[in-house]
Amino acid sequence: MKYFAILIFFISINSVFSQRLKIRILNEKNVKSLIFAPAVGKYNIYCDTLLIVTLNKNEVVNIIQNGDSIDLKNLNSKLGTFKSLNFIGVANANYAKIKCVIPSINQRLYDDDFKITIFNKSFNIINDVEIENYVAGVVESEGGQKANIEYYKTQAVLCRTYALENLTRHILEGYYLCDNVHCQAYNGKSLSNFDIPEATSSTSGLVIVDSTLNLITAAFHSNCGGQTVGSEDVWIKSKSYLKPVIDSYCINERCAIWEKTIPLEKWKQYLKSNGFLINNYPNDSSIYNFNQIARKTYYRILNDSIALRKIRLDFNLRSTFFNVIVSNNNLLLKGRGYGHAVGLCQEGAMQMAKRGISYQEIIKFYYKNTYIVSLRALNFFKTP
Ligand SMILES: [Zn+2]
Ligand SMILES: [Zn+2]
Repeated sequence: MKYFAILIFFISINSVFSQRLKIRILNEKNVKSLIFAPAVGKYNIYCDTLLIVTLNKNEVVNIIQNGDSIDLKNLNSKLGTFKSLNFIGVANANYAKIKCVIPSINQRLYDDDFKITIFNKSFNIINDVEIENYVAGVVESEGGQKANIEYYKTQAVLCRTYALENLTRHILEGYYLCDNVHCQAYNGKSLSNFDIPEATSSTSGLVIVDSTLNLITAAFHSNCGGQTVGSEDVWIKSKSYLKPVIDSYCINERCAIWEKTIPLEKWKQYLKSNGFLINNYPNDSSIYNFNQIARKTYYRILNDSIALRKIRLDFNLRSTFFNVIVSNNNLLLKGRGYGHAVGLCQEGAMQMAKRGISYQEIIKFYYKNTYIVSLRALNFFKTP
């Protein structure tokens, strides 16, 4: 194992990984009309192999849905009606401005190439994007704009691992990942904080694997409230590296605590509808009180119980980590944390990064018995 670790370290530091991903962008927005222009570089627009037009920086085209086809226009004239359009960057670096007109959405910037077709009377827009450009965009969308660079490195390794572990999610629909939270939020090119592309390129190609060299399920959430949970408590499937961790780093952060009041009568009806024999309970409402010093999985009264994750879902709660205090005719839920609490706690990781802890240590704190390796090393070890 020692030689293995040394070898993957040397391969890791020398490799720059390059691979394209097909990401469906502006997913579920039903875009029917947009304006496209190169922000940097130069684009050729093709229909299949036919070159229609070349766009230099800031030269604009309008793209409009027309039945099952696409009208392409520039400032002076209509360039034609097509079934599909490919936008291929032909300079060394290319990224484009996309402004949706119908529906109106603020202009976004996207790296690399695009393909537009029609699906259900609106655009199916696939961004054919270099993985490291995609990762930087996701880090910005998922990790915010004001964190420490060591946190961005952590999030970059996580987002890269998550993307590569989920490449087949939308394969039947002709692309790899969508751009909303179903896969990972991706709102285009990272531009707001220079630390983000820097963190992405300095961890280029690095991913997290478990002891069997398989990519991990790199789950993360906003705030664990002081204790993460095992994956088996949320998704049934147990993973050796997704185990409870006591986390003191996040407990004073923005999403650390929450409260919610529910009328006692509503709570009783809810429990009754979930099989609680409340008519048999003593006439003392303190029986509904509930305490979690460490995380529990069930809310229990006498022999009745209900999964806390069902309560979280039904009452739209921030977490399952809450106490119940009955006061007069109300129930006060005093909660900790935000999210499913499996895997890495983002606010805890941000705090660790602020205190000078490296991204490798942050990752190993939340994902036990894992290794950070380069994809090249991984392929090397998987080749018979
Ligand atoms: Zn998706
Ligand atoms: Zn935490």
